[in-house]
Amino acid sequence: MYLYCRYLLDKRWYDQWKEYVHTGDQNSSSYPGKIDNTELYEDLDSYHLKERLTENEDFVLVPAEAWHKLLSWYDMMDDQPPLERKVVDLPSTVKVEVYPVEVYLCLSSNLESTVSARFSRADKIRERNSADEDSYQGPPGVCGLTNLGNTCFMNSALQCLSNTPPLTEYFLKNSYLEELNFTNPLGMKGEIAEAYADVIKQMWSGRHYSVVPRVFKTKVGHFASQFLGYQQHDSQELLSFLLDGLHEDLNRVKKKEYIELRDADGRPDQEVAEEAWHNHLRRNDSVIVDTFHGLFKSTLVCPECNKVSVTFDPFCYLSVPLPVSKERVMEVFYVSLDPTAKPTQYRLIVPKAGRVIDLCAALSQATGIPPNQMAVADVFNHRFYRIYQTDEFLSCILDRDDIFEDSEEAGPSKKEEETQESSQTEEQNNCQSEASPSSEGEERAEEEESSSEPDRGSSTEEGQSACGSTDTNSQDATDVDQSAGAEPSGKEEEDEDEDEEEEEPASCAQANKRLPGRRHYTERRKKALFTMQAVNSNGTTERGMGEADGSFSFSCKCTLMRNSIYYRLLYTSDAFKYIKHQSMDVPHQQTTVQLQECIELFTTVETLEEENPWYCPTCKKHQLATKILDLWSLPEVLIIHLKRFSYTKYSREKLDTIVEFPLRDLDFSGFLLKKTVNSTEPPCRYDLIAVSNHYGGLRDGHYTSYARNKDNGQWYYFDDSKVTYAREEQIVTSAAYLLFYQRQDKIRHPTIPPPIPSSTQPENHISSQTRDGMDGAASCVSMETD
Ligand SMILES: [Zn+2]
Repeated sequence: MYLYCRYLLDKRWYDQWKEYVHTGDQNSSSYPGKIDNTELYEDLDSYHLKERLTENEDFVLVPAEAWHKLLSWYDMMDDQPPLERKVVDLPSTVKVEVYPVEVYLCLSSNLESTVSARFSRADKIRERNSADEDSYQGPPGVCGLTNLGNTCFMNSALQCLSNTPPLTEYFLKNSYLEELNFTNPLGMKGEIAEAYADVIKQMWSGRHYSVVPRVFKTKVGHFASQFLGYQQHDSQELLSFLLDGLHEDLNRVKKKEYIELRDADGRPDQEVAEEAWHNHLRRNDSVIVDTFHGLFKSTLVCPECNKVSVTFDPFCYLSVPLPVSKERVMEVFYVSLDPTAKPTQYRLIVPKAGRVIDLCAALSQATGIPPNQMAVADVFNHRFYRIYQTDEFLSCILDRDDIFEDSEEAGPSKKEEETQESSQTEEQNNCQSEASPSSEGEERAEEEESSSEPDRGSSTEEGQSACGSTDTNSQDATDVDQSAGAEPSGKEEEDEDEDEEEEEPASCAQANKRLPGRRHYTERRKKALFTMQAVNSNGTTERGMGEADGSFSFSCKCTLMRNSIYYRLLYTSDAFKYIKHQSMDVPHQQTTVQLQECIELFTTVETLEEENPWYCPTCKKHQLATKILDLWSLPEVLIIHLKRFSYTKYSREKLDTIVEFPLRDLDFSGFLLKKTVNSTEPPCRYDLIAVSNHYGGLRDGHYTSYARNKDNGQWYYFDDSKVTYAREEQIVTSAAYLLFYQRQDKIRHPTIPPPIPSSTQPENHISSQTRDGMDGAASCVSMETD
């Protein structure tokens, strides 16, 4: 960042001048004459500075003020340029940039003739390009906000508020100056309001492509420590904080009186509502209340004594729930132990609150393989990341969005893996179950194995090949192979043995020793499909078998061995060739709901949850009352918060449901409890003015916004510092998170004509837009002009 300037001054001239000033003799020989920096230059044609000049030896640095004084008193030698240098704010230090960066520019067709240009390290390319940023005269309000490090949540909320006409006009007209409340203990001494006003004024000056809201962010962090630092936050949380902060900073009520709230006690709604609103205004009166506050009716009914409690409460946004599907779509890969069968990808519908066994059941329906012969594993970063138990909740399997994505991984690696282990081979089971569990993972795997026993041995090929002999491991392979060849005929008996063996913490080696006695040895090892290699826990680094301590340490790695086999099966050579089951062809139906459905849900009867009971004054204890919310009156600007982040006992998820919301004519009259009695009442029709979007999953993600410029009626897409034209049909997406609606009677016609976006620019960058040379490409929004 560039702070201010210093001027270079030749040290000899400076010393002479000091001596001269010291003696005070105007006629002395020490008179320095014109400022002369000749000694600092390599030559007087280019005025290039000499290399390796040293401060206080060759030159001194003087502040701008001193420089201009000296210049006015002594003048400068022969058109020498002033050596103005920027002071640059570097991390932990401040530096004067004596030698600016020099860039030579030339055409590649003519390398001979170059043009040189000098830049400061503090210069911005955009400033250099546009000569002077102050000359930018874009439409006011069409201005990006620089991301200061994960601050897109803040930028997104700010853009929505900035495009809320009554609020922005209030700040642009400086009305806030008269209403700043410095003494409100609930406020922030007016500082949030002033910082906000500053950002808004810059954004609407028309002079900036993008504004850096640094001061504003610092203030927000100062008053709400949760927003300190640079983590990602929720744009709704920020908006909520900001609406509250601005309200208290601008509260016209300087001293809040205490008001005792009266219960409705059977009085008519109209009366109770008016009383509640009046009481609210006695303590809260600000531009925020004028613009955003509405009133809803809350009715609680005690399940025991049927006591009805009615209250009217103000709100500044509506948090509406999304219909939560009880089902969940999961995509899994089914890997048969038949090595000739390719892995198959299935799309399954499972109960959201279900367990892993439900997933197996769903796959069983599709494959015909009994669920108890399956094992479910999570493959992540080229290895078996986790093996799930059948009684685990499906909520522990995250959707793909939420799994951390390693940049190294290829497409299919980050998937839930459904592995059918019905034909899991004897040898593996033995090793598996009898290896002393050295980790939780292996233990779990062991249990998985036991469930897959009944059919074991139906296909021995893979097992055999898996443990197929290799040069490096002949002894082990032989032992193992002996078990691998078990015939299906001996199944029953072996299964029982197996169960017994599982009880014992015997080592695999012991098991192997016993095996030859009761297992047939088959000749199938010649058909080896795989070579066996030990791998580390990542399934990546291969190790020579010779290093292992005989079969003992080797056997403890059984789980990993098996994993590595799958790893190879899935990811080697031809890199995971898999088949898509026809269930994958059914287009992934993205649930679509109407905004009106969400608003209806908001007003649906609900029973309070145990964590949040209601104190019944009649029963004198907490009760799980039923609660009904009804909308009573709506504000000029209605903010609707779509509750996409769902936290329940069973799941934490982000709902990607598309909520279809109208851009115009959202009619609330059907939702309002208060019936319009006379024509002086404002209508209940609303038009969309802004949307805050959230892309991504629960923990990460990116915020942007769409907003309609109040002056020209054009929609824009704000992505931090980038602003582009938006078309109306782009606005409704599954990312929409906060909706801003303005009541139609308050919407004013655009005061300037809409811009004409170029049809040849797909991105429609504002910064590159020019008015001239446009062929009358139709504008996206046709608006009347006054
Ligand atoms: Zn009660």
